[in-house]
Amino acid sequence: METRAAVKEKFFIVTRGKARKGFSRGCIGRVEAETQQGELMGLVYSSGSNAGSPKSGGMVRREDTYPLTRHQAQLLLFVSPSSKRLELLCNPQLFSAICELSQDDLVVVKHKKGHLPGLVKNLMQIGRKEKQEDLHMLGFEVEFVDNDHNLSSKKPAPLPLFSAADIIQVVPSYSVPFGRSWRDSPSEGLNRKAVSRINSMPNMGSRSLHLRDSHVEHSITPSQSANTSQMHLEVGSMVEVVSNTGVTVYGVVRWLGVPAGKTSEWAGIELDYEVNSCSDGTCGGQRYFSCKQSRALFVPVSKCSPDSRFLCSSSGNETLKPTKPPLVPPLEDSEEDAPPIPESEALSLLVGTMKGIQGHFNSCYLDATLFSLFSSSMTLDNICHNPADTEQPIAHTLRKEIVNRLRRYGFVPAESVMNFRKQLGCDTFLTEEKDPEEFITILLQKVLCMEPLLKLRSKGEITQGAYTFQIILEKEQVGQMPTVQQLLDTSFLSCDLKFEEVPSCLIVQMPRFGKKYKMFPHIIPSTELDITDLLYSSPRECFVCGHLAEHECLQCLPDRKLQPGKIKQYCAICNTQVHTHPSRQGHSPRALVVPAGMSADAPVPRHMMHLFAVLCIHTSHYVSFVKYGPDPRSWIFFDSMADRCGDDQSGYNIPEIRACPELGDFLSQSEEDLARANPSQAGELVRRLLCDSYMFLYQKPSTAP
Ligand SMILES: [Zn+2]
Ligand SMILES: [Zn+2]
Repeated sequence: METRAAVKEKFFIVTRGKARKGFSRGCIGRVEAETQQGELMGLVYSSGSNAGSPKSGGMVRREDTYPLTRHQAQLLLFVSPSSKRLELLCNPQLFSAICELSQDDLVVVKHKKGHLPGLVKNLMQIGRKEKQEDLHMLGFEVEFVDNDHNLSSKKPAPLPLFSAADIIQVVPSYSVPFGRSWRDSPSEGLNRKAVSRINSMPNMGSRSLHLRDSHVEHSITPSQSANTSQMHLEVGSMVEVVSNTGVTVYGVVRWLGVPAGKTSEWAGIELDYEVNSCSDGTCGGQRYFSCKQSRALFVPVSKCSPDSRFLCSSSGNETLKPTKPPLVPPLEDSEEDAPPIPESEALSLLVGTMKGIQGHFNSCYLDATLFSLFSSSMTLDNICHNPADTEQPIAHTLRKEIVNRLRRYGFVPAESVMNFRKQLGCDTFLTEEKDPEEFITILLQKVLCMEPLLKLRSKGEITQGAYTFQIILEKEQVGQMPTVQQLLDTSFLSCDLKFEEVPSCLIVQMPRFGKKYKMFPHIIPSTELDITDLLYSSPRECFVCGHLAEHECLQCLPDRKLQPGKIKQYCAICNTQVHTHPSRQGHSPRALVVPAGMSADAPVPRHMMHLFAVLCIHTSHYVSFVKYGPDPRSWIFFDSMADRCGDDQSGYNIPEIRACPELGDFLSQSEEDLARANPSQAGELVRRLLCDSYMFLYQKPSTAP
């Protein structure tokens, strides 16, 4: 009787839809019947202590659900609140690994103090099963591995119990060759500890585990030598390293090279979690990159293998095939829009693999642009007030499937981006690599129906508006390593351009063309742009005496005696004096439009713009840096195609977001120090920003995150 029921039973989780008839998002149910219209009738399991007993029946549309096995349903039932169940489901690699866990597998769990490694000791059945349709919840008893990575000698009794959602990482069990899945022998070793808990895990005795941290680099052996010899390692590769005691650690390669005192190539790896005696990016007293304390591991390159969690050979789970693209995060039915991700939540929501916008088929220009414009910035939200009922279908797709998803879940699957691309009106958007400026213009003009962001005056006349601004100048007009401020000032002055008004968003495109040519090998980002002197009819102060300026002079711009690279405007007196100098007698200063009624010594307000994102390009691949809050160190780096799982046909890209506070440290230096900076000595991400910048995105301070 019980066996036959088990064959027929079908479980599901509600992934979207408004709460109705007992079913709401995150609810787990069991199918009792299915209508021809594709509706499921079923029992619903509540949450809380009574979670195992199904309540009333209800109806839900099939497309609003996702099928679960009994085991998955039991694991998810113990996860509370129910919204966390969906989050776990959005990480299919992890969830399928959790479903396959067996005794003594090493996992990392969320615990009070942070993230702790531990060994799974038991799968616990929780709750009573009085009626046949009752379902046990399943949780894991985990024994912590202490700070020295030895097993705790004293077992606390009982061991702490964790839900599937508490597990943030699973270490594969190939180091446990005799590892048996508990599902092979579900009734073995029943050991009633408490009325509500049944130990259903085969008892295999504990296995001691040692990770000798202080010499971790010497005790590491390659786990898959075949892989190792063929593996192409580069900065950004996700790797695993196995110690000779069988403990695997995972991380991302942040540095490659020959460290001082070594002769072979080593890798500096930022680990996914802390390991005692690992550093914050230094090795032998020398800094190679920056990360959190106890996260940096340095090992010979030969010891690294590809991160097996993202290889496509492991799991046998019937509903979550790893070669399939990951599950789509559920769509909200509510019309309510998600606000930009606040600074306090950005790192926990965004940092990691399978985060951000998933790249697909040359989409990186689009992924990097959308991520920059929408993840943390309010700017476009503020400018664009189209009411939902008048918006075009494509704007609806953008808002629902991309922006809201990104802000709520930190992940947008490639399908959503493809759906958006299909509506852009031209087939080339589906397949070809495009320029971000072309995309931005279409996005703002056609999709969001926005007025041009920039209103420019050329030679005193109002010209057409623009969505982005392209820097145009002669290479000789600025120094070897110019700042964005210098480039913008020089470009405006030499083209005789002015802003009609302060733009709420200013997107500046660097002087580089096509995939190869860049005018400057390095450009220093200006975190603040002062556009006071670029505004038409806004009062400006004399460069020399500070009084109201009446003339400006392009030829004075590069003058070595007068702060080269800085815009020069003068009051009438200073204008005459400066230009009596023999070297400046040939100059032709232009008269400025001075607002009527300005007194000569009234203070002039400064108009500043704040940098909130940078698009970078290298070998035709676009990535972006985003400032996710006011703190100077609040920078993240996003790559929609950081890695790939599977082959060209059936595989998918793995997007990744990394925190890069070191960028904030670098940019906080004084102007003089920045001008003297040596890019080749900067960390990897800082160097990429200096070398590869393509577009700088600025916003008015009132709209800053
Ligand atoms: Zn003056
Ligand atoms: Zn001059």
